[in-house]
Amino acid sequence: MNSHTTCPYCGVGCGVEVIRDSGQISGVKGDKKHPANFGRLCVKGSSLHETLDTRGRLLKPQVDGLPAHWDDALNEVAARFQRTVEEHGPDSVAMYLSGQLLTEDYYVANKLMKGFIGTANIDTNSRLCMASTVVGYKRAFGSDTVPCSYDDIELANLIVLVGSNTAWNHPILFQRMVLAKKNNPNLKVVVIDPRETATCKLADIHLALKPGSDTRLFNGLLSWLAANGHLDQDYIDRFTDGFEYALAAAVNSSADPRQLAEDCDLPVESLHSFFNWFGATENVLTFFSQGTNQSASGVDNVNAITNCHLATGRVGQPGQGPFSLTGQPNAMGGREVGGLANQLAAHMDFDAESIDRVERFWDAPNMATKPGYKAVDLFQAIERGEVKAVWIMATNPVVSLPDADQIKRALEKCETVVVSECVADSDTAKFADILLPATGWSEKDGTVTNSERRISRQRGLIPMSGEARHDWWIMCEVAKRMGYDTEFSYRHPSEIFAEHAALSGFENEGQRDFDISYFSNIDRFTYDNLKPIQWPVTAECPDGTERMFADGKFFTPTGRARFVEIIPRAPVQQPTDRAPLVMNTGRIRDQWHTMTRTGTAPRLFNHREEPFVEVHPRDAAIRNISDGMLVKVSNPRADYYARTRIEEGQRKGEIFVPMHWNEAFASQGRMGALVAPVTDPLSGQPELKHAAVQMEPL
Ligand code: SF4
Repeated sequence: MNSHTTCPYCGVGCGVEVIRDSGQISGVKGDKKHPANFGRLCVKGSSLHETLDTRGRLLKPQVDGLPAHWDDALNEVAARFQRTVEEHGPDSVAMYLSGQLLTEDYYVANKLMKGFIGTANIDTNSRLCMASTVVGYKRAFGSDTVPCSYDDIELANLIVLVGSNTAWNHPILFQRMVLAKKNNPNLKVVVIDPRETATCKLADIHLALKPGSDTRLFNGLLSWLAANGHLDQDYIDRFTDGFEYALAAAVNSSADPRQLAEDCDLPVESLHSFFNWFGATENVLTFFSQGTNQSASGVDNVNAITNCHLATGRVGQPGQGPFSLTGQPNAMGGREVGGLANQLAAHMDFDAESIDRVERFWDAPNMATKPGYKAVDLFQAIERGEVKAVWIMATNPVVSLPDADQIKRALEKCETVVVSECVADSDTAKFADILLPATGWSEKDGTVTNSERRISRQRGLIPMSGEARHDWWIMCEVAKRMGYDTEFSYRHPSEIFAEHAALSGFENEGQRDFDISYFSNIDRFTYDNLKPIQWPVTAECPDGTERMFADGKFFTPTGRARFVEIIPRAPVQQPTDRAPLVMNTGRIRDQWHTMTRTGTAPRLFNHREEPFVEVHPRDAAIRNISDGMLVKVSNPRADYYARTRIEEGQRKGEIFVPMHWNEAFASQGRMGALVAPVTDPLSGQPELKHAAVQMEPL
């Protein structure tokens, strides 16, 4: 039996080989043949077998707090959703999903909601992760397409890392960068991040810019490239539109280098070096991640970067391109099946032609015709009583969403809360009327897509724990009880994958980027043995596609890429006299999300054992705070208690807190409660990196 699977943590998507002993998993090692990691695993990945204990697992369905048989629990979910739809219409129900789900789970959820129940109120925690990139790529390329491959790392001569602590959050890619720099003395690395993170150890230049000044910086770069003869005018003329408007906006906001340095709070010499390197180096790879996306200007941040790559013709060529690093293992797969409230399946939008196409493909009786609520708006609609039934799968919004106490209020008020989970007592599960035990990593069977568009198999290698069931199966059983029998009669995830593949190729003569129609008739054996492969995968490119847009053809109506005019805007949550500090949030090296899985492996606490607040020595001194002291971080929304870590690498006036701790581990450690529900107006992605707070010793 195939023992190869994929790590369920980050968007690097490393291949894992499982070691089994008497039917149990006794160890893991990196899959030497997987092109994402070639045998390497980080500390989280190499601890996977230590997180498989069934203690703390949800092993039996519950209805209204009492154990229930599956049949009764499924009947209850179907009846409550059906009744709510009949009484209040399809938009009175919702789903909130997760980048932890497999593509097949995601596909069934979207088909049920958007095609059969008739609402697009189905969003996902990928909204917190990559939604700004989706819109940014679509504005520039006409499609949500990552143009690059991991192999570009070894071909680049300049790697720019923007808002990305790659060393901790995408460790195996970072190791590739370390090795690439060792083997290529010409490779330079620039890190653009307000904090001096572990990633900066690899940097030739660290630009510790003022938070929220990213668009100004990249507008400045575009102006400088134009003023210093570094444009690829032939590429601009042949393959793009809108350059003159983007350049005019860039010159207007950021042309004077001294003013730009002041606006971004950067040394002018470092700025010059970065600009000179970017201008003079052909093979430039710009990675960006949550620091870019989690902003009220997240989409503009992405396009400001993309503008610079288009202006130099550096998109889709070996070693070149704007490269989004996804946080979650399957944020990409979710996007592919339309896992955001404003998307349809197979990267289609809510335009009349696509609605009609998907409706015909599914033979859908109740096709949704407009976008639904995005994550933050969805939970506000629940609190208003507009959405009366919600089904949450594999995610913990009570910890992770901004204004996290509002999520509690919303769930308390919601008439029906269904939670599908692996763990018994997550912060969100406490609000469930119906709890459904879901299978976890190494039990689940399906596919995921990593940051370089590579589809890999996550394989079911051990029996399901207790009465846990696969998410796709649970949803199909509910769908059948709602009267949609034949349309949800899948017997195996390979059948779902084949249908998803067929939809990607349906009436798609090269107009849409996401196309895996080669797999439309995939059989179970081939699916079980599927090798990691980058989409598109079609009859013309059966071995997948390493890079996109090398030919200068894009998915816009004109076939040309688009520059976007960027007018810099300041972050919305600004410091005040009573909340004078800017709070940045993010991940730490050894934990994942809200710790429901990594929190069960003791050795993953060796790195950081409790929540903390990183603070600059000056900010500590003026508050009489010493290293390791217990402090209260607060604003009118909430309080957060933790010990300090005094760090020179923290900017003055700014603090950093980790995103992970849930109430089971730290009763006052949910950082989300301090963040206002401010979002990017185009992507709906929350501004999680710029909250206003105060801090005082206890
Ligand atoms: Fe898993 Fe990411 Fe670590 Fe790879 S880098 S082993 S995918 S957590």
